[in-house]
Amino acid sequence: MSLVYDYLGVGFGPSNLALAIATQEHSELGGAQPRVCFLEKKPAFNWHEGMLIDGSTMQISFLKDLATLRNPASRYTFVNYLKEQGRLEDFINIQTFFPAREEYNDYLSWAAADFRDQTFYGEDVQAVEPLLEDGKLTGVEVISQDGAGQTHRRKARNLVLGMGGKPQVPAAFDGIDDPRILHSSQYRGRIETLLADRGRKARVAVIGGGQSAAEIFEDVTSRFPQVDAAMVLRGIALKPSDDSPFVNEIFNPSFIDRIFAQSDEQRAQLLSEFRNTNYSVVDLELIERIYQMFYLQKLRKNERHKMFAHSEVAEVNTSDTGIELVLRNRADGSTQVHKVDAVVLATGYSRDQHHPLLAGLGDHLESLSPDRHYRLNLTNSDSKIYLQGCCENSHGLSDTLLSVLAVRSQEVVESVFGQPVGDAAAGEEQRVRLTSAL
Ligand code: NAP
Repeated sequence: MSLVYDYLGVGFGPSNLALAIATQEHSELGGAQPRVCFLEKKPAFNWHEGMLIDGSTMQISFLKDLATLRNPASRYTFVNYLKEQGRLEDFINIQTFFPAREEYNDYLSWAAADFRDQTFYGEDVQAVEPLLEDGKLTGVEVISQDGAGQTHRRKARNLVLGMGGKPQVPAAFDGIDDPRILHSSQYRGRIETLLADRGRKARVAVIGGGQSAAEIFEDVTSRFPQVDAAMVLRGIALKPSDDSPFVNEIFNPSFIDRIFAQSDEQRAQLLSEFRNTNYSVVDLELIERIYQMFYLQKLRKNERHKMFAHSEVAEVNTSDTGIELVLRNRADGSTQVHKVDAVVLATGYSRDQHHPLLAGLGDHLESLSPDRHYRLNLTNSDSKIYLQGCCENSHGLSDTLLSVLAVRSQEVVESVFGQPVGDAAAGEEQRVRLTSAL
């Protein structure tokens, strides 16, 4: 009989990494050794490598790391990482809650390395098929393809989807496959190659008005002296993110109960009211630095970098000599053409990658709305399916962020395996019970 995992995780970013840690610590309490594995499309662990811009920092406190809010005594806290790296004292001297993103990526990679034997990198999950016994769903078969084109099939009793966001592309760019047009998630690495080919001046457009767009705009205008850059945003102005303390309480894991208990209408209203904590907003200090840069341009009468606010890209025409953007002013409908050599789409992410994957479960899947413990409603099923990071509509704005990882992973682990049983023999008994059905 082929190996059947207790659960299989699709994606191995921070969500499923936190889950791997919570699973390990849960089993240490109960003595059982669950059989779990994770499939990750990337060839190695990396957290938003395309947005590792020099000098960019976290916007979430390091105390909201992979474990602290669940178990401050965990080996996988950010503080323990610092201690192991020999930088704890130096970090204290920096006096910040917001480490460099580069350091946070190193922290996550350090933690991920301990789960190497559970993780299959370089595998793209293509389908999830039901495993049935007398019409009852008893598990799933996950089909993936590796870099060499080889297909793999793995069986699992339960499934946890934690795939992160999918780059969102504005309609005007639909169907255009041009290496000079990239998404913000590909920025670091791709932009250097694109601009290195050009000894002479280059024109770059950054589309969007959120944190990614602002960080990229600052980076491209300061790091590449040969670049003339333009920022194109639909809003009237760059707006600051609200991270004030009372508002920040909406990101407390304990707030999720409150949100979940509300009606769909109330939740939609809350999401809209607090959208400016997270979406289409920029850290105030960065806004001020960008404003200062434009002011100095005026002073020096050299206005090479531009901001097209209240504007959208209506049409895109590519040719050997560049990319022509037809920009439409949203106030009066007037248009103008802006020609560039490269475009960065800092236009955010969609979170619906799980829809096509779950289509194969057919009638067993009642709806795509999870319960409080992130579990989907399945009919006639012993199997459980969980969603991580795509439950904003039901669990609130914190769901796509790092803030809730540690606590959410414990909720999922306890939903799959039950409460920790406390002694090794009972733990083993529990594991056998959970995995024997297949
Ligand atoms: P975002 O906040 O969702 O912003 C996307 C931007 O793209 C918005 O300005 C949006 O404009 C625009 N946009 C979306 N669709 C568009 C379209 N079809 N045409 C034109 N513009 C369009 O995405 P993000 O900036 O990538 O940020 C995502 C998350 O990552 C946030 O939580 C952010 O805080 C985080 N982040 C963190 C850091 C850091 O830790 N230092 C760095 C970068 C990002 P509208 O407002 O008009 O919709």
